Amino acid sequence: MAKKIDSKIPAGPVPEKWKEYKAHQRLVNPKNKLKLDVIVVGTGLAGASAAASLGEMGFNVINLCIQDSPRRAHSIAAQGGINAAKCYQNDGDSVYRLFYDTVKGGDYRAREANVYRLAEVSNNIIDQCVAQGVPFAREYGGMLANRSFGGAQVSRTFYAKGQTGQQLLLGAYSSLSCQVNAGKVKLYTRYEMEDVVIVDGRARGIIAKDLCTGKLVRFSANAVVIATGGYGNTYFLSTNAMGCNCTAAVQCYRKGAYFANPSYVQIHPTCIPVHGDKQSKLTLMSESLRNDGRIWVPKKIEDAKALQAGTKQGWEIPEEDRDYYLERRYPAFGNLVPRDVASRAAKERCDKGFGVNNTGLAVFLDFSESINRLGLDVIMQRYGNLFEMYEEITDVFPGDVANEINGVKYYKPMMIYPAIHYTMGGIWVDYELQTSIPGLFAIGECNFSDHGANRLGASALMQGLADGYFVLPYTIQNYLADQAVWPKVSTDLPEFAEAEKKVDEEQDRLLNIKGKRSVDSIHKELGHIMWEYVGMGRTAEGLKTGLKKMHELEKEFDTNLFVPGTKEGLNIELDKAIHLRDFFTMGQLVAFDALSRNESCGGHFREEYQTEEGEAKRDDENYFYVGCWEYKGKGNEPELIKEPLEYEAIKVQTRNYKN
Ligand SMILES: Cc1cc2nc3c(=O)[nH]c(=O)nc-3n(C[C@H](O)[C@H](O)[C@H](O)COP(=O)(O)OP(=O)(O)OC[C@H]3O[C@@H](n4cnc5c(N)ncnc54)[C@H](O)[C@@H]3O)c2cc1C
Repeated sequence: MAKKIDSKIPAGPVPEKWKEYKAHQRLVNPKNKLKLDVIVVGTGLAGASAAASLGEMGFNVINLCIQDSPRRAHSIAAQGGINAAKCYQNDGDSVYRLFYDTVKGGDYRAREANVYRLAEVSNNIIDQCVAQGVPFAREYGGMLANRSFGGAQVSRTFYAKGQTGQQLLLGAYSSLSCQVNAGKVKLYTRYEMEDVVIVDGRARGIIAKDLCTGKLVRFSANAVVIATGGYGNTYFLSTNAMGCNCTAAVQCYRKGAYFANPSYVQIHPTCIPVHGDKQSKLTLMSESLRNDGRIWVPKKIEDAKALQAGTKQGWEIPEEDRDYYLERRYPAFGNLVPRDVASRAAKERCDKGFGVNNTGLAVFLDFSESINRLGLDVIMQRYGNLFEMYEEITDVFPGDVANEINGVKYYKPMMIYPAIHYTMGGIWVDYELQTSIPGLFAIGECNFSDHGANRLGASALMQGLADGYFVLPYTIQNYLADQAVWPKVSTDLPEFAEAEKKVDEEQDRLLNIKGKRSVDSIHKELGHIMWEYVGMGRTAEGLKTGLKKMHELEKEFDTNLFVPGTKEGLNIELDKAIHLRDFFTMGQLVAFDALSRNESCGGHFREEYQTEEGEAKRDDENYFYVGCWEYKGKGNEPELIKEPLEYEAIKVQTRNYKN
């Protein structure tokens, strides 16, 4: 290892130091006597919760987002729920069990201490959100209701129908608005961070663009927090909101922040299949549906062929001819195996020719059994908006009876297929969520912290809100305590002028290429390369080909791009071009990391490394580390720095979801 990484992890999974943070916070921050400023970039669940908490604690917060309102951040899309170890179901859940499931679900590639802290604060999140008025679903008796998500054998997921993210975001937004009203948070909507400004080795501010006027603006502060989401849209087609991008994270990476585990990309098993090449967005059908929906394909290849040809429908296939392959392969977890396992199993069936739609790339998600058992009313209470969303997109309502065989009613099944959904990799942070640049913090999906090689369902909201409400507000003070004696730097410093000039010149460069291809056409092609060579099944040879193709396409981007309009005023195409420039950097980083990791783990599946049963085969001897990448300039291979993982409480073993 060329460089040493200090992850500041206290010994053991139950950090004593954590208690010190809490005491420290009371000492350092007696309600804004210190006049410390913090920039929080992003108003998703991570950013909004952090900005609201920091404002409440007395800091002066500058909070930015690219949407017209924080309420429209991508977090609003989250459907299924948020995990916590409350054990309201009395089913044996505990902080330890949530911790254990999350580490196991991440295929033993997460930091143990971080995950324990996450499990520990999970219960506080639910209390906080209930206090804000988040309308979680309740049992008849008034108790908060729970359902199960993948990788767990208890019910620990709190939810608000299929709109959990929206309701949680409204809660965070009301706290944020309170601080805006109190003058502690200054909100800048439709502002995009274009660069981070480093002065004397510390993050001291950012350059942002007013997206409506095109004007570049300088902000300085005592610390910068980025909460700008994941990089799933590198693949063009994903379940992410169209505006999701990785520009802020990639700019931090270019300025020296390490990027950790980029190859850990989550492919979600239950998305509406791609239905043509004019599509620019994929739609998720929440994992919560796997509580009551059963996944299957036909047992007989001739049935599959008939389905693909459109001469047969799923509901015409009787029970005995259906292969509930997840229940067959993983009897203990059945349809609720983690996402990486379920996605690969769907791909395996479709690769063998058992796909159920005209492209052969779909499997059924069928509610017949649960509707027959519970009634349509109950199922609609649980998933009503998801059924309606599915109908709106496909014109099929999964609650419609389609057939009756031997007195059993069969309902129209959904068709689903895996798609890019979430990114476990992200900006490297230490235990205090500080990046490798002092004064720069990263929270929520944009950091790499807690999910290892695969995130369990309903754990992203948990992590984002843990970071924003309960971790960063404490840990950032270890940094700020030392900063209190230093005045905030002026935005007139040459470092700000230089960063702004570079952003401006970069816009001119893109506008002046004046080639023939639109941003979207190039982005779509990049997405194809990513999916084909850096997607669900990767090989060394494929990754090398993918990298070569990406380089060629990046050249095409640099020489044949066409961006209409000017940099003055609103120019969405120009903003998209900047995002695409950074998706190229990101795509290559994902491929480099995937190529360097000669093993399969979680969402990173190298076809050369699998068991006889097609399961991921880890190599703990050689790859039991966090892979951190340091930027070495455009066109150059980044440098790999390894942070070894240390497990004390959990025995590292092969994942088993069969028994
Ligand atoms: C369809 C779908 C369903 C999901 N369902 C669930 C679920 O049920 N449970 C669960 O736990 N997780 C779920 N997830 C994952 C979860 O929603 C996300 O991981 C989480 O919301 C990310 O929150 P965040 O605050 O980190 O980022 P985001 O919500 O992506 O917010 C990013 C913020 O950063 C801002 N931003 C970005 N770039 C810039 C820039 N350069 N300058 C200024 N601002 C910028 C944006 O405006 C936005 O405010 C789901 C994801 C999807 C796609």
